[in-house]
Parts: sequence; C-alpha cells; structure tokens
Amino acid sequence: MICENISVSRDGSHLLFAGQDTVSLAQEYGTPLYLMDEERIRSRCRTYKAAFARNFGPGSVPLYASKANCFKRMYQIMQEEGMGIDVVSSGEIYTALQAGFDLSKAYFHSNNKTDWDVAYAMDNHVGYFVADNAEEIKAVEREAGKRNFRQQVLLRLTPGIDPHTYEAISTGKVDSKFGVAIETGQASDLVGFVLKQPHVELCGFHCHVGSQVFAEDVFERAAVKMLDFIAEMKRKYGYEARQLDLGGGYGVRYVESDPHLDIDVKVDEVARTIHSTCERLGIREPEIHMEPGRSIVADAGMVLYTVGTVKTIPGYKSYVSIDGGMGDSPRYALYKAKYTLYAANKMAEPCDFKASVVGRCCESGDIIQAGVMLPSSIHRGDIIALCTTGAYHYSMASNYNRLPRPATVMLSGGTSYVAVRRESLEDLVRNDL
Ligand SMILES: *Cc1c(COP(=O)(O)O)cnc(C)c1O
Repeated sequence: MICENISVSRDGSHLLFAGQDTVSLAQEYGTPLYLMDEERIRSRCRTYKAAFARNFGPGSVPLYASKANCFKRMYQIMQEEGMGIDVVSSGEIYTALQAGFDLSKAYFHSNNKTDWDVAYAMDNHVGYFVADNAEEIKAVEREAGKRNFRQQVLLRLTPGIDPHTYEAISTGKVDSKFGVAIETGQASDLVGFVLKQPHVELCGFHCHVGSQVFAEDVFERAAVKMLDFIAEMKRKYGYEARQLDLGGGYGVRYVESDPHLDIDVKVDEVARTIHSTCERLGIREPEIHMEPGRSIVADAGMVLYTVGTVKTIPGYKSYVSIDGGMGDSPRYALYKAKYTLYAANKMAEPCDFKASVVGRCCESGDIIQAGVMLPSSIHRGDIIALCTTGAYHYSMASNYNRLPRPATVMLSGGTSYVAVRRESLEDLVRNDL
C-alpha cells in the first residue's frame, strides 16, 4: 500500500482507509467524496512540532500552509496542535477567523495583495505580512500609518535555487513572479527602503524554493544563502533579522517509485546547517519557521469515485470514466501528476486490465491518471480510490461543467463526520442574479 494508513479488509476484498471500509463510506456519503484521516494530520503536525522543539530556539514554529487544504475544521485542528499558519488571501483569513484561529500566528503571503486585502488583514490583526515587493511595502506603510501602529513584516526573497521539481511549482529561482532576488542586489536595496518606514517593523526574511521537493540539500543551500544575506544586512545596515522562514515544499509519496522522506531526519539536517552557518557568520540564530502544506495533509487524503462507463477501443486503449474529474482532482490535468489508484471493492482481484481513468468533464485533458492497472471485471458501480489527495485537491477544486464540489469527510478514531458539506445544485446558482 502506498501509505501506512491504507490497508485491506480481513477477507481481502475491500480497501480500508484509516482503518475504515471505503466501500461503506462511499455508500454512506455518496461519491465523489474527499476523505481525510484526522489522526494522520495531527501526527504530522506533532512530528514537525517535536522536530522544531528539539532543534530550534523559542519562537520557532511550523506554519501550516493553508493553501494545501483550507476549511474551518482544518484551522481548528491546527489551533489545537499549536501550529501557526500561512495564508495567501482574504478568503483564507476569513476562513481562519470563522474557525476561531488566533491570527497573531498567521503569516500573510501573496505576490499581489490588493489595498483591500492589506486593510482587511490589518483590521483583523494578522500577525505578519510576508511582503513580496516594494509596492506592497508602500501599501502596508500607508495602511499601518492610518491605523497608527507598526505592522510586522518579513520580506520574501528568491535565493536563486533550483529545487528540481515541476516548473509550475518551482518558485525560488531568480526568474520568478515571487519575491525579490538576492543575486540582483534588489533584495538588499529593499531592506534599506523598509528600514526607513516608520510603520513597518522588519522581522526577518522568507524564502520558498518550490514544492514536492526531494532533492538533497535544497533546504540546506537555501538556509545558507538566507543566512549569508542576514549577515550581509547586519554589516550593511546594522540590522539583525529576528526570524528566518524557509517556506514549505517537502515531497510526499504519490507512487511506489517516489522516495520516502523522513521529516525528523530532514529537519535535523537543516538545523545542523543553520547552527554551523550562524556560528561561522557570527550572527545570532534567528527564530526558524517552515511552512509545510503537502507533507502535513497529502497522505491524509483520499478521493472515492464510482465507475460509470468502461470503454475499450480495439487497437487503441481502454477508458474507465468516473463520476468526478478535473473539477475535484485537477493535478493530472495541470501537470500530469502521478497517483496510486485502487479498485476499492475488488482488492482481492488481480489487476490485469490497463485503462486510463478519466473524469466526466467536457475536456479530453480531463484525465485522473493514464495507464492504470485495474481488475478486468471493473464495471459500472465499482468504487475507485485515488490516494494521497489531501493536498491541492479540495483547495484547487472548481465547478467546471457545473459539477458540485464533493463533501469532505473526516475519519477519526473509527468514526466519521462531515467537515465540508457536499455542494447542492442550489449552491451552484446561489450567486446567479
Ligand atoms: C505553496 C507554499 C507552501 C507550501 O508548500 P508545500 O509544498 O505544500 O509544503 C509554503 N509556503 C509558500 C510561500 C507557498 O507558496
């Protein structure tokens, strides 16, 4: 099984997730259906929390990257686990507020916060802005000035590191829409500018090199670049950064050939580099933050679908159509992301039938996964499970073709409950005048 929270029933026929029968869950809640394993989410948070406590000084906390999967219950879990959060829009801020999350532990990202976003975040006391550029600093200075307080800010920098991941989720290179480059000298100039703003308190620096990162050393190299920059700012302006945020990005296993990353080992390695580099540079070790999204929630998720039609084109290939598609699982359509799939009610049968599992949207690119091996008896009414879907599924979902978005059901301690209700047909026309 691709993840340890996935298993089969005693008679070998049904797929279990978090110890619960997925076929029964599909019957009870309908499909398509997002499942989330709550214990898994919590245990991932605890792994990060413990690694931070073991390695870094006071004030260092892991921040959950909300964009991976954002709904009220998720923020309650993050609050209970003592995590901070990163948010990227007023919508995420609003959701966190509705969940009762303490926004003083929120870091507000985005390469283009509107004036309205800036005002909204300040009115709701978001702890930190992660400012992307000089334009944003001016907007923050203006709005904080009106409110007569100092907004805490980190600057997002691009350290010039290629994380060797998908192009669409690679963000730390010099040529990026995000952040200011260290290499071009623009980052240094921006620090000089920020330090002159009376209503902006510069707390430190942020970088995020990419997502689904497995390559060795990426975080270590980023940390060294960022600490070098901190030392340079100390020399140049006498300014010593209090916080260093290294972003998110640790990869997770979608298919058997993906490596297994041990977060404990990874954080320990980065910490060793940080300790030795600070010592070498003669700078005080900053509070460390990281922003894991995928590695907290991805393998806590699964999507269940019901098979509709099975079609074989002689001399070409076979298609298995399911009752969802790119609207609920867009990552294959976006960048041909790989996944593991199971025929959830036929786990005892051999998988000797090759097919492309496709969605029901009116797009040829609406593919869940090409060339999947399934039991040859697969037919209408069977349940297909798509694994490792806790990140970048619900949060990226759309109503394309006016398909309602699925419910999210949480699995916890042998029971289940709805955290996000399934959209109804009425929901689809709610804003139509
Ligand atoms: C996307 C993103 C993250 C989370 O990345 P994961 O790969 O999901 O861990 C963290 N920080 C920033 C700024 C991001 O854009």
